[in-house]
Amino acid sequence: MLKNTNVSLRMCMACRERKQKEQLIRVVKQKEGLIFIDKTGKADGRGAYVCNNLECLELLRKKRGLERSFKCKIDGLIYDDLEKELG
Ligand SMILES: [Zn+2]
Repeated sequence: MLKNTNVSLRMCMACRERKQKEQLIRVVKQKEGLIFIDKTGKADGRGAYVCNNLECLELLRKKRGLERSFKCKIDGLIYDDLEKELG
């Protein structure tokens, strides 16, 4: 049974499906242009989400989804970091 019926959903940058935060990985861009994977989900800055699976990560990499979401050039290493995060 669902305890909380009012869960806020976030959209995956790759497949554009809306999912609960727990099923997504949050990437944050801070004002200084620093971009990193936010494991706590509480970091300041603009957040973007991608599903916690390799398919969406690959799609994101292909579509350059982070560049689009954050409207800036992204170090490709972030995608490698995400891949590591997925194990
Ligand atoms: Zn997805």
